[in-house]
Amino acid sequence: MQALQAADRTLGLRLEKGPTPEVGPNDALIEVHIAGITPEGLQLLETDRAHKPSVVGHEVPGTIAKTGDLVPAELAIGSRIRVQRILFCLRCECCSSGREHMYGEGVVIGFAQFS
Ligand SMILES: [Zn+2]
Repeated sequence: MQALQAADRTLGLRLEKGPTPEVGPNDALIEVHIAGITPEGLQLLETDRAHKPSVVGHEVPGTIAKTGDLVPAELAIGSRIRVQRILFCLRCECCSSGREHMYGEGVVIGFAQFS
């Protein structure tokens, strides 16, 4: 797998090769052909507000390459998708009732570590 990574505050972007991620039971591995980043995203990477090292690019279209056993059948291998760029907790009242957009702690992939 190749990924453009921001390693530190100097924004020295590097194309790095790494292992293909393992696919857990609820995961889907996405084959990404292109990813975009906004100027605001680059500004975030230049500050301490972004988690580093991180993979750059949060506008991510791709195709499903592999799925875990618990992934719904409609997410079939070869399906074209766009990755939801905001990460939610999926545990609070907002996230568990379909109102993720009301969750105040959402973070953009690639810019923050989420636990
Ligand atoms: Zn939540």
